[in-house]
Amino acid sequence: MENKNKILSLKQLIQNADCILIGAGAGLSTSAGLEYSGERFEKNFVEFIKKYGFEDMYTASFYDFKSQEEKWAFFAKYIYINDVGIEATKLYKDILKLVNEKEYFVITTNVDDQFEKAGFNKEKIFATQGSYKMIQCAKACHNKLYDASDIIKEMIKNINQDLKIPKELVPKCPVCGGNMEVNLRKDAYFVQDDYWYKQDKKYAEFLDKNKDKKVLLLELGVGFNTPGIIRFPFEQMTYQNKNWNLSRINKENVSNWVLDIDDKLILIKDDIETVIDKLGYNLN
Ligand SMILES: [Zn+2]
Repeated sequence: MENKNKILSLKQLIQNADCILIGAGAGLSTSAGLEYSGERFEKNFVEFIKKYGFEDMYTASFYDFKSQEEKWAFFAKYIYINDVGIEATKLYKDILKLVNEKEYFVITTNVDDQFEKAGFNKEKIFATQGSYKMIQCAKACHNKLYDASDIIKEMIKNINQDLKIPKELVPKCPVCGGNMEVNLRKDAYFVQDDYWYKQDKKYAEFLDKNKDKKVLLLELGVGFNTPGIIRFPFEQMTYQNKNWNLSRINKENVSNWVLDIDDKLILIKDDIETVIDKLGYNLN
């Protein structure tokens, strides 16, 4: 089937669905314009590229900085341009328009808070891998997250020529006095706070409550970085639940793994923003 016909079928599925489950990965934010390499990276990180030889934002975020002052200078910039310092993108807002009239839920591995910024109900978002704007004890000595939006803005204003922030702006754990980390799942110290567990439970409830209803699983930009969180379960659930359909939109790697679900699948290999634009136009 051509993409044009697939988009028409998807439009019908959206209209007929009782509820919509969105599963979103990195490809969605890339399509929204939040690219981690190329011009956007080179423009914003000129001095960092000169000092450290960074090649893109994502790999740079794994760099082993020599001091907390250097580390937070980088992360302040990184978090500011990808979250704290930006508004909702058009693409995320357009997706909300598509699902707003329905019962919906969002599970995402994205940590840039775009769903929340775009106006999705925070109670209906499960961001499994953390958030750029939240920080935690680096050793996870206690189970709490702290909103660092204001600290990040303060850091941004105080990055010096050596690409360091002043020592007094380095955040310290209020319990053990040790270093703080951005709340991103990258090691065994990732903190899942009460809110995380609450959303995890709501996700499970959404799946259970709607298992006999007409559910559209809308999978956007999910690749093979952590397929066990969204991609594989989405296929599995489509297989298991008679009235569920899955539409996967991604620029690459759209093929399904689970067999015998072809009649319940719409795979669209294209740029997400392009597809959503067409859907929106057709819906009017
Ligand atoms: Zn601590």
